[in-house]
Amino acid sequence: MEDLSRKGTYIIVLHFDRARTIDVGKLGPVQFRKGYYAYVGSAFGPGGMKSRIRHHILPKKRCHWHLDYLDTAAKEIWVSEPGARLEHEWALSLGRTSSGRIPGFGSSDCACDSHLLYFKNPKEMDKARKSLSLKKHQPDRFL
Ligand SMILES: [Zn+2]
Repeated sequence: MEDLSRKGTYIIVLHFDRARTIDVGKLGPVQFRKGYYAYVGSAFGPGGMKSRIRHHILPKKRCHWHLDYLDTAAKEIWVSEPGARLEHEWALSLGRTSSGRIPGFGSSDCACDSHLLYFKNPKEMDKARKSLSLKKHQPDRFL
């Protein structure tokens, strides 16, 4: 069994079954389209990716990261090799193939346009995952 508590870079795939507007802290009201959103993040603290991803996918009371404002169910999780710091590289790379992005989302502390990329359907999403050579995991493996 793969050790998911290691440190590294991850992607959380969210599914919106309809268009919605959600208030995302300092970003203000953000319009989301029906489809899939891939959030790129990294976890190098204690507990590694498992504890960070668990935080993101469980219902929460306090919002710390932009992603915490989205109450949408996680569909799948993709993770890097242990210790790989690839979040900005992946955000850039996915940004080239995605059908859209949420400007400024998850990228307050870096030079990226966005760390939340939009894909219309599962096929596009899967193509993006394969372009990064990543395996998908069920979200419940991080709970
Ligand atoms: Zn970045």
